Amino acid sequence: MRCDVVAVGTELLLGQINDTNSSWIGEQLAAHGIDSLVQVKVGDNLARIVGLLRRTLDDADAVIMCGGLGPTHDDITREAIAEVMGVTLIQDEAVGEAIRQMFESRGRRMPENNLRQAFVPVGATIIPQRRGTAPGLICPVGDKVIYAVPGVPHEMKEMLERAILPDLAARNGDVSVIASRTLRTWGESESGLNERLDPVIAQLDIAGNPTLAFLASGWEGIKVRLTSKAPTAAEAAAIIDPWEAAIREVVGPLVFGLDDDTMESVVLQMLRERGMTLGLAESVTGGLVGARLTGIAGASEVFRGSIVSYATDVKHDVLGVGDGPVVSERAAIEMADGARRVLGADVGLSLTGVAGPAEQDGQPVGTLYVGLSIGGRPTTARLLRLPGQREQMRQISVISALDVLRQALLATAAA
Ligand code: ATP
Ligand code: MG
Repeated sequence: MRCDVVAVGTELLLGQINDTNSSWIGEQLAAHGIDSLVQVKVGDNLARIVGLLRRTLDDADAVIMCGGLGPTHDDITREAIAEVMGVTLIQDEAVGEAIRQMFESRGRRMPENNLRQAFVPVGATIIPQRRGTAPGLICPVGDKVIYAVPGVPHEMKEMLERAILPDLAARNGDVSVIASRTLRTWGESESGLNERLDPVIAQLDIAGNPTLAFLASGWEGIKVRLTSKAPTAAEAAAIIDPWEAAIREVVGPLVFGLDDDTMESVVLQMLRERGMTLGLAESVTGGLVGARLTGIAGASEVFRGSIVSYATDVKHDVLGVGDGPVVSERAAIEMADGARRVLGADVGLSLTGVAGPAEQDGQPVGTLYVGLSIGGRPTTARLLRLPGQREQMRQISVISALDVLRQALLATAAA
């Protein structure tokens, strides 16, 4: 089964937006064992879209089109598909009604051109819209098929998962399930991780199922994804289990979570399990750590707050940091103790460092001290040398500091 991808929109050609949809679709198709050999962009021009669709269908069994399903005159994906199918467009009453109701429920007047979205090629199956107003389309062309989804990424993703991937699997005569599990890691480079996992990868190559892929995700760390194929979801998971264990055996504490876990969700959960609360003192990150933690629902149970002690006198007056350089081990320790005391928390975590562009206190750009104050233990500070320009350095500081806390909590038994 081969399914190519066509992204529609002149703005894609002009470089005004990046075609992230095709990349995401490509990833999904690969995970489902469907080949995608050509992915192209085309402007909002009827003749060129029609020509491209015909050529694509000469080679591929299916094509996914994204974009150009909206209400305006330059949204011509529907017209192009109808021409390739050799049919006309008819108005679908149910779709028209759904669009009208959507506007009504929001108390807005519906511009008449919205009903353009209710026109569908004769013979097409509708993928009902859930999030936006344009429905998706499944359009048979002989024994091949054209799928159309809106360009808006979250609408596109929802329809692909709900309707298109299952339809492709059915056409493929596929009765098996593809499951994947992603191990989230922090603290080792992609090549370093690869090297350490070499023996496991060699065994995986022999086994053939599951497969392993590395996904470098910038300041979110390196993802290690295991993908397996089996008749049922339970069997697919069972195939992955021993390999996950084998990876953990080698890289152990580098793995901070699975799938949708994030460093902040994991740290909050670990604090919760230990009945501990957290207070922060942030200098170099200016509140970014607190923002990440409060992005997780239920953070208030464990997160007390963050003191953004950016100015030196705030470090002195609010946190009780003594005189001397503020990018130093001593300042980090006093900030962590201060945060714990002022915020009435069980754990104090602090960040002080140099994001650049200039050095500070004789410390180079990329310097980060992470202070950690936990009752009943001596307060410590870790020195990290981080890469990157200002924004990257600050983001890496967030996950690095949370990882310092995570590693310390690993050594503390859950309550
Ligand atoms: P709508 O029904 O919302 O008008 P549409 O199907 O007409 O959707 P477009 O108008 O082509 O889609 O795109 C809507 C928005 O979706 C664009 O402004 C852009 O932000 C985003 N988008 C479109 N195509 C892509 C793409 N290939 N990759 C990433 N984002 C895209
Ligand atoms: Mg549009």
